[in-house]
Amino acid sequence: MVAVLDGRVALVTGSTSGIGLGLARRLAKAGADLVINGFGDAAEIERTRRAIEEECGVRVIHSDADMRDPAAIAAMIARAQEAFGRLDILVNNAGVQHVAPVEEFPTDKWDQILAINLSSAFHTIRAALPGMRRQGFGRIVNIASAHGLVASPFKAAYVAAKHGIVGLTKVVGLETAEDENITCNAICPGYVRTPLVEGQIADQAKAHGMSEEQVIREVILAAQPTKRFVEIDEIADLTLLLCRPENRSITGTALPIDGGWTAR
Ligand code: NAD
Repeated sequence: MVAVLDGRVALVTGSTSGIGLGLARRLAKAGADLVINGFGDAAEIERTRRAIEEECGVRVIHSDADMRDPAAIAAMIARAQEAFGRLDILVNNAGVQHVAPVEEFPTDKWDQILAINLSSAFHTIRAALPGMRRQGFGRIVNIASAHGLVASPFKAAYVAAKHGIVGLTKVVGLETAEDENITCNAICPGYVRTPLVEGQIADQAKAHGMSEEQVIREVILAAQPTKRFVEIDEIADLTLLLCRPENRSITGTALPIDGGWTAR
């Protein structure tokens, strides 16, 4: 049977962990050759790379390009295009967090979060779009956040970057609207239990003298009406839906998958 993304090539930034790894696996299962990107233990990344190749019968390469470095990002896109001859699907997922009141927010953390969570998507899109236009097909999916639509205190850089990526998504959706079959959308998840959130749970527990279970119930999931974490598989399903070649008219959107958070 032909899988829906057979013959396609996907690149997912920040895909050595958490949501990005889940999305990369799902795209590979659907038949796409893959570029994974991100940091971590080299042996573990190599095991993951080979496991996806074996499970999914696709080719997978790893790029350790730092999403703070525009030259490294351009080189990563060029390498993907050279290795596979095309790049069809670009998922901008890499992201980091830092929590502090705005007047105490370290300026280096602000710069880092803006670079990784927002500017890297500008650099990848800028480099990938000409090839998508030439081949008459492209899918860009930006992993924003519920924090791309609403704010929380103490997350100035994260909320600014995520609102920014929703804006970038709209512009790219409009600029590609008349192209053959290119779309650009943002997905806005609520809380997902990944290493990024585990860090916040541990910090809050320490700061408030609470147990981790209490922090999850009373702090983290307080904003999420379903009172449960969003599953990575749910985000992977939505990503795959947006990447399907027949879905040409969903573009320029920011789709919440947040257990009702932004319905309030
Ligand atoms: P994670 O910490 O599990 O994974 C982050 C990934 O980004 C890792 O692969 C890491 O190596 C990579 N990365 C970090 N800095 C990098 C850099 N400079 N260059 C290249 N790669 C880098 O985080 P996650 O929770 O899976 O988050 C993934 C995305 O989803 C982020 O954009 C995050 O903002 C977004 N998001 C997460 C949640 C959540 O609750 N976890 C909710 C909404 C949105």
